[in-house]
This record gives sequence, C-alpha cells and structure tokens, in this order.
Amino acid sequence: MRRARRWVLGLVALTALGSCVEPGLPPAAPPAPVVVATPPPPAPRMPAVPLGDFSFQGSMIQGGLLIGTAPTGARHVSLNGDEVPVAPDGRFVIAFDRDAGPAATVTATLDEGRTVTRTLTINPRAWNISRLSTLPKYPVPMPEFEKLRPAEIEQINAARRQDTGAMGWRQPFMWPATGRISTLFGSQRIYRNGEAGSYHSGTDVAVPAGTPVLAPADGVVILASDHPFLLEGNLLMIDHGMGLNSALMHLSRIVVTQGQAVKRGQLVAYSGATGRVTGAHLHWSLRWRNAKIDPLLVAGAMPGIKQAQLP
Ligand SMILES: [Zn+2]
Repeated sequence: MRRARRWVLGLVALTALGSCVEPGLPPAAPPAPVVVATPPPPAPRMPAVPLGDFSFQGSMIQGGLLIGTAPTGARHVSLNGDEVPVAPDGRFVIAFDRDAGPAATVTATLDEGRTVTRTLTINPRAWNISRLSTLPKYPVPMPEFEKLRPAEIEQINAARRQDTGAMGWRQPFMWPATGRISTLFGSQRIYRNGEAGSYHSGTDVAVPAGTPVLAPADGVVILASDHPFLLEGNLLMIDHGMGLNSALMHLSRIVVTQGQAVKRGQLVAYSGATGRVTGAHLHWSLRWRNAKIDPLLVAGAMPGIKQAQLP
C-alpha cells in the first residue's frame, strides 16, 4: 500500500515536470524522483581561437561543436583519421560526443601534400546523475516494443545518412521554443545493481502542447514521421549540412514535409506529448555524425529564462 502510494506521488511529480523517459528503455518504467536540472560547468566558448594554422569557434568540451577554419590551401581535413568535408572558404564542422575522450587530432592536407596536425584538448563535464538504487532498469518485458522498434530505428538512421548540402551549419542556432529547461543534455539515471540507463540525448524545454516549434537553423527536412514513434512520438528531423542535424520530438503536429527546405526561425511543428513522455514538452537533439551534442552549447542561454545559463 505504502509502495503504491509512493508510486502515484512519483508519477504526479513526473507528470508535472514533463520530460522524456530515457530512450532505449521499454515503456512503463516506474516513476522515479524528479531530476533537478543544473546548468553545466563553465566551458571555454571561444570566438575564433587560432591553433597553429587552424582556427576554431565554439566549445572545446564534451558535447561541444566547433566551426573550424582550415589552413590556407587545405584540400582535406580529418578528425581522428576520419575525413571531414571542407567548404570552399576553408570552413568545416567537428563535434565531440558527450563521452568523448580528453583529446582529438585534427589534420589538414595542403595543396603541396604537406600535412598540418593539431591536438585539441576536450574538457570533461560533470553530468547530472541520479542514483535510483531501489528501482530496476527493465521492469516489464515488452514484446511489442521489440517488434516495432527496429523499423523506426532504421528510418531514423536512413534520415541521418542523407546529405542535403544544407547551409544552416554556418548560422548561429536558435532555440526552437522558449521555456524552462526541464532536463539537461547528458543527464543519466543509475538503477538497481548499478545498471545505467541511457543518458538524455537532448535538451527538454517545458512548453505546453500546441506551442509553435521553429527551425533552429536553415536546413532540409530529412524525416517527418506520419505516425508517432514509440519513443520520439511525432518526430521531425532537419539536416543542417556537414553531418549536423536536429531532431525535434514529441510533437503534436508537423507542418512541413520530407525534402522541404526550411529557414531558421520558420514554423515547422507544434509541441506535444506524443511518444514516451511524462507530460508535454519539446525535446531537441543535435548530432554531428554519431556524436551527440549539447544544444545549450550551440544555441546559448535560453532567452528570458534565468535557469539556462551559458556554460
Ligand atoms: Zn528529452
């Protein structure tokens, strides 16, 4: 009885918060104590810092995105050995995953075949971790989830493989909706027996259902789901070019179509509470290739909201 009451109280708290239930888990996870979001620690946010013949703009930190400028005459740039496309003006995009190691190597190959290599120091972050030692990680086996999920993942992966040539990566990103940040990027729960849940892959903005959702930067729609996905609900993905894309989740309605070019600030959808959620909110994920990026580092402080301070 006591346990049941605690369950209900927890559910009420979570419903009021309105956040994602972490991806990768089957549905119907028991309610857990509310995670209070705290801003990430200070990070170097650099206006075009020169590093040898390169220069970089952005945050050299886990979950950070950098716009680089290659040395004059560079034909190719690579990050840790992987080729990175370079625009005609020498600019390129690289980013560091939430769990990126302490260093990365950037190499440019110049016209005459000479190479220039620089080592970047990636600052570590302290993530918002909640320890829920009494709760199991997988409370209920979900055969229906296992059956339906692979096709959704394939659709998402196919969207990410598209290269649309969009130019939004050059722009300053804006928040797709304005509100209190209810769950920070990178937050994670540790369950009974020390089992870790998936970390939160984006930023949750607490907005009521029906709030207009705007394109955070120019891009091309690479996925506009025609039905709610199990976790993401109605999902809209926008490619910003150079391997950088946004995913906007739990929408009530999408007003753009696949293949459509969108402008920064354009109305693309309305927020909602579809998919695996505890209440209405907007979840915004940013990825560069396979690296998950912190939207707060890219879009900056939430306008008009005190809580979301710039790292
Ligand atoms: Zn979320």
